[in-house]
Amino acid sequence: MQKWRCVVCGYIYYGVEPPEFCPPCGAPKEAFEPIAGGVNKLPIWARKDIENSDNDKSK
Ligand SMILES: [Zn+2]
Repeated sequence: MQKWRCVVCGYIYYGVEPPEFCPPCGAPKEAFEPIAGGVNKLPIWARKDIENSDNDKSK
């Protein structure tokens, strides 16, 4: 699934398209940039989120 990052607050959104507004900071969807991969570049809390979502696979 495509990942989107809010350039204003760093919020990560998962979806085909970015949300109309960023939930935490209210920035418009133009503030979202696509993330191709590069998990290591994400803030640590975002990496933790992704690790948690992968737990189902590694079980
Ligand atoms: Zn934001």
